[in-house]
Amino acid sequence: MIEIMDQQMDVALIGAGPIGIEMAVALKQAGIDYRHFDAGQIGATIQWFPPATHFFSSPQRIAIAGVPLQTLDQGKATREDYLRYLRTVVLLHDLAINTYEPVGDIQTANDGFVLTTHPNQTRRMWRAKRIILATGGTAHPRRLGIPGEDLPHVSAYFHEPHVYFRRRVVIIGGRNSAVEAALRLHHTRAQVALSYRRSSFDDQRIKYWLLPEINSLIAKREIACWFDTVPVQITPEYVELAKVNEKLERLDQQTVKVPADHVLSLIGYEADMSLCRKVGVNLHGVDQQPQFDEQTMQTNVPGVYVAGTATGGTQQSFQVFLENCHIHVQRILASLQGRVQQATAPHYQEPES
Ligand SMILES: Cc1cc2nc3c(=O)[nH]c(=O)nc-3n(C[C@H](O)[C@H](O)[C@H](O)COP(=O)(O)OP(=O)(O)OC[C@H]3O[C@@H](n4cnc5c(N)ncnc54)[C@H](O)[C@@H]3O)c2cc1C
Repeated sequence: MIEIMDQQMDVALIGAGPIGIEMAVALKQAGIDYRHFDAGQIGATIQWFPPATHFFSSPQRIAIAGVPLQTLDQGKATREDYLRYLRTVVLLHDLAINTYEPVGDIQTANDGFVLTTHPNQTRRMWRAKRIILATGGTAHPRRLGIPGEDLPHVSAYFHEPHVYFRRRVVIIGGRNSAVEAALRLHHTRAQVALSYRRSSFDDQRIKYWLLPEINSLIAKREIACWFDTVPVQITPEYVELAKVNEKLERLDQQTVKVPADHVLSLIGYEADMSLCRKVGVNLHGVDQQPQFDEQTMQTNVPGVYVAGTATGGTQQSFQVFLENCHIHVQRILASLQGRVQQATAPHYQEPES
């Protein structure tokens, strides 16, 4: 069944992460007629962080829409603090958000765009004059592309440490999520082994408070770390690792089999740029970064804007974060209202990590 929504809205806002919500507050305060959609619940990206994960940014950098974010101990906010905060902002501003209504398609039409959404597996068609894509940059986990990665004991999400108590866990990856998971699981009393394709962790990228501890636990052999390896196969009993050089070429045919009850593949996430593609936004480079005007955030398709981490596509090296995207909101609002926004530097240019 297709439900066709008659009235054309001025703006369709897609994505209710922090930047989508900040945008919604600005649209509402400006009296712009808009509708807001999210494929899941508000803050869906933060929802899948492991429990009690701390943001690396201080609270004032990730606060949105002028609403202060206070934490219990004046430290960095946790996942739970921030989800509660997002709910508060939505309640405070009484924002209407069509949650669990993914936007599956956008097509250009004579007088704007036609969107197809899928609430509860059904189909709705909406008309909008303008579109804002705040769809984030971490829609899907990266795939390993090896046999066994879809086995039930393999996951790309680290949810609840208790699950792994006194179990053998192999973690694949060597960036913040992998290192943080390794430390947390070690302290949960899991038996942890890491496989990382590089010869050491990148001290410029790993959170400075994680690095000494992980290096020390590896040196003391309390966490096993197989540097310069990649997984080539996962079975119900073990993960098979092969040695690689710095160009990630296999060095020989010899492999090592590391026993595993659980496998966490924490090698990063990819953006879903399919809506950009469908509506005709140009995507550049390996990151598939959308083409847009820095001053207005308008893409090469007139009337289509991008906001938040969606502007970075699938970032190989993270430069676009929540904390340096707040400025997008005012740029888009100014453009929607036909004002010229001065291209001021982002409030926070360098992430605080
Ligand atoms: C563990 C971790 C810690 C982090 N810590 C920090 C930090 O300290 N500081 C910082 O600045 N950044 C941090 N980040 C990055 C930060 O979480 C993201 O930058 C932030 O969530 C981006 O906000 P966003 O609004 O741009 O996108 P997202 O929060 O990713 O929101 C995008 C939303 O769009 C929705 N969506 C996507 N496609 C569709 C569709 N087709 N239809 C409808 N809805 C759709 C999604 O469901 C999602 O809710 C961290 C990330 C991780 C993984």
